[in-house]
Amino acid sequence: MIGRATSEVATPAEAGTFMQHDHDHHDHHAAHVAGADESAAPRKPKQEQEDASIEVSEVAPGVVRTQLPISMPGLGHVNCYVLEDERGIAVVDPGLPGEDSWGHLVDRLARAGYVVDDVHTVVITHSHPDHFGGAMRLHHETGAEIVTHETFRTIFDTSDLDDHEDSEELDVNSADDRNAAMERYFAKPSPWGGRRAGPSPEFMERMRKAGGSAGSIFATPRPTQPLVDGQTIKLARREWVAMHTPGHTYDHLCLYDPEFGVVLTGDHVLPSITPHISGLTPQADPLAQFFDSLRRMAAMADVSIALPAHGHPFEDLGGRAEHIIEHHEERLDVIRDARADLPNGTVADFMRVLFKERSWGEMAESETYAHLEHLRELGELQRHVDDGFARYIPIG
Ligand SMILES: [Zn+2]
Ligand SMILES: [Zn+2]
Repeated sequence: MIGRATSEVATPAEAGTFMQHDHDHHDHHAAHVAGADESAAPRKPKQEQEDASIEVSEVAPGVVRTQLPISMPGLGHVNCYVLEDERGIAVVDPGLPGEDSWGHLVDRLARAGYVVDDVHTVVITHSHPDHFGGAMRLHHETGAEIVTHETFRTIFDTSDLDDHEDSEELDVNSADDRNAAMERYFAKPSPWGGRRAGPSPEFMERMRKAGGSAGSIFATPRPTQPLVDGQTIKLARREWVAMHTPGHTYDHLCLYDPEFGVVLTGDHVLPSITPHISGLTPQADPLAQFFDSLRRMAAMADVSIALPAHGHPFEDLGGRAEHIIEHHEERLDVIRDARADLPNGTVADFMRVLFKERSWGEMAESETYAHLEHLRELGELQRHVDDGFARYIPIG
């Protein structure tokens, strides 16, 4: 038995805000893709927004789709896939932190015919809280392995975002250190000079109070089986190939089963919304990485089914990946066209061209920054810093 979770644990909505989770943003992108039609007709909910069903269904040999509720803007559920073998089960993306989500996970496992003790492995596709929430508790209760890409890193692990001298020793699972790390992180301006939204003082107070047992039960995961690209892992009685797919996050992992043509796509490729691309990464050009990762999906032969972390399983993985590439190419063209009117524009200036007003804010700035930096890497823009703000000048 492990300690009791307190009611002071962060709510998903709050966690989403400070962890730069992206999904409220998806909706905007969906609207962008939908174009003018969307304002005329009442908007049809996207499949990623559907409430979590209690149904469990086999979607590939030995793979059962279950859905856990999440209350994040633009998303109604996260798919937690259950992969069965002779040792028990592996679960992929076991939902949000917190007692509520845990209860739903236990319920869905029961509906699929399993108990928590059957779980021998937890796979986490990437470092967002709706994907890793239940992982450490499963690890504590059953000794389950925690499988991630080797670069798995959450916002709490700030050692390379942060030059604080103690960062090496930072214990990401101590509530005090976590709060300190977050406060330092949000105290710094963004790389382009914008203010970080950061958590509210009320939220920080709740985190402070939560501390102890709640902090450790739903701690940020420590992988026990970090994978590199191309490495294989046996799940559901067959080998899966790890694919490092940076873009949505740097640490994003997809798994490919060549035997049946099944791909676990996480948030990398979703059926009807496009994932947020954050400019707040240590990498120079996250959008270029996302394009590369999408091209890998588009080039895959013999895919019979893609299993996304949100929304319904779908067949045309290549077509969907190409569509997302086109979407971002169009966004780059919007910036190219705006350069003449914004010859010395800031990230916020370009954001207002790229996004509708209801989406303006730190996340939109962050994605705009990623697009601007991509054009800079391509040699189409030059960046200089003026009074603390990055400004972009067209080249040629
Ligand atoms: Zn995500
Ligand atoms: Zn997600």
